[in-house]
Amino acid sequence: MQRIRGRAASGGIVFGKIHFYQRDEQIVKKRRVGNPQLELQRYEYARSTALGELDALYERELKNIGKDHAEIFFIHKMLLEDYGFVEKITDMILGEGVSADYAVHRAANEIASELGHSEDEYIRARTADMLDVSRRLIRHIQNKSENTPVFEKNTILCSYDLEPSETVMLDKTRVKAICTCYGSVTSHSSILARTMSIPSIAALGKTLNESYNGCDAIVDGYSGILYIDPDNATKRRMIEKREEEGRKRELLQRLRGRKNITLDGAEIDLYANISGLTDLKYVVDNDAGGIGLLRSEFLYLQNDDFPDEELQFYTYRRVLERMEGKRVVVRTLDIGSDKNPDLGSSDEVNPAMGIRSIRLCFERPDVFRTQLRALYRASVYGRLAIMFPLIVDPEEIAAIKAIIQDVWDELDQQGIAYSKDVEIGIMIETPAAVMFSDELAREVDFFNIGTNDLEQYALAIDRQDMRLEKYCRPHHLAVLRMVKMAADAIHRYGKWVSICGELAGEPELTEIFLAIGIDTLSVSPTKILPLRRKIRSIELGDREDILVRSGIIPPSDPKHYGVYFDYSRERKYVRGRKTNK
Ligand code: PEP
Ligand code: MG
Repeated sequence: MQRIRGRAASGGIVFGKIHFYQRDEQIVKKRRVGNPQLELQRYEYARSTALGELDALYERELKNIGKDHAEIFFIHKMLLEDYGFVEKITDMILGEGVSADYAVHRAANEIASELGHSEDEYIRARTADMLDVSRRLIRHIQNKSENTPVFEKNTILCSYDLEPSETVMLDKTRVKAICTCYGSVTSHSSILARTMSIPSIAALGKTLNESYNGCDAIVDGYSGILYIDPDNATKRRMIEKREEEGRKRELLQRLRGRKNITLDGAEIDLYANISGLTDLKYVVDNDAGGIGLLRSEFLYLQNDDFPDEELQFYTYRRVLERMEGKRVVVRTLDIGSDKNPDLGSSDEVNPAMGIRSIRLCFERPDVFRTQLRALYRASVYGRLAIMFPLIVDPEEIAAIKAIIQDVWDELDQQGIAYSKDVEIGIMIETPAAVMFSDELAREVDFFNIGTNDLEQYALAIDRQDMRLEKYCRPHHLAVLRMVKMAADAIHRYGKWVSICGELAGEPELTEIFLAIGIDTLSVSPTKILPLRRKIRSIELGDREDILVRSGIIPPSDPKHYGVYFDYSRERKYVRGRKTNK
């Protein structure tokens, strides 16, 4: 038996036979042409045929497997129509007098190489799309027909790489798993494999090659391991794992479309935290009710400079459109010299308490206004909420509102559409914000409690320093009591509160958050269905009782006098002792 490890791209376990697929090599040679104008026409004709073909494929796959998969052909159309790509090709044909297939080949490789150097994994993964669509175009220029491989039943398709359009076109009744030597887990092929629920492993390296054609194999798409000629013990282990994972997945999938409701009818929203466009698919797959935290700094961290208004507008618009009217909470730039030394003052002794987040926005109004303009311009495409981080004082809200008013005035003057129905909220992540929660609640539409920072600032525990963990009780009562204080304050004004720090996803705290009356928990997408399962198993009962037992509020009712909260490290809840003991 041989074991090859790659990157787990799509979960699942498959037993089958390897078919090592290699597409027909396209031969493109540099050739001068006698009549460049005629060559340009040849290119234009091939391009319009390819565009027509992509249209037809889009329509077909839309019916067959849905919008998510079909979108790839739409993206390919956009690439073929991309002004920069067309211009490069035209210049080469007319300026250098080279053949159309060579011009396309060279232009695509140049663009692919630029994409490949991007720091953004998503953009890097588009390299494959560029090469894929150029191959289609070259095939039409060369007037060649498509080679469609024939597969046996239970095929494990192995390949050096697989183009996104090849992945979509696979005969899924026969191809049961996909393994590639190259590629990444965010490449379109991997994304497609996941959306089509085909187990897949990427980046297996050169050890996997055509010599394995016809071998028996097992694909473990959960761990990213390909077993070639597996022994009996491995086969048994994989059968057990497949059964176990299948049971778990089935149970969770059954929860899609269900309410987040306790056995006795208490409901809560479950939203997703995301850091980029690539996470959007998981938001939808995991049935999130909305996006509770879009950490917009991902846009800043990917670029050497602050991203311009257009890039931001495009990004926010895409998120809002994809969420189809569900709430999307975008947090404005939460960054400082801790995350990017070029920002703020790099000589800060303690960047976590330095010029970061909203403070940096006040220092750099140009950057802040650009982000607000992009957000308001995007606001007409969905249900946007804007959230401001690291607030310590109600006066900051007044300053933010004045800047928003300026941005509105400017957009009005320029005749640019935006919505005024955008909710404005703040992160509660400093003890000062908790203490001011009443005043702050009057000024905003919602609170989002960032327990990661609230823990750090309330407990004086540097969240980056793992050595400090032992000094801090997990789920510290001081923090949970602050959560309740802030939630009560905003509820007094009839407004909503969410938690978006890591505590939101801790199943041991779900009952407490429900008892406090938190409206929304915002967690990483894969935590949504497990949390829904947890919520649906809870019989909440008497909320006050839960809060007294967990030490969040003191007993006020004689019925609680027999309840004693033990503050020991183990956090035991002991019933039946006298409160005055
Ligand atoms: C938080 O502080 O809890 C939070 C969600 O924000 P971040 O982790 O991005 O600081
Ligand atoms: Mg924070």
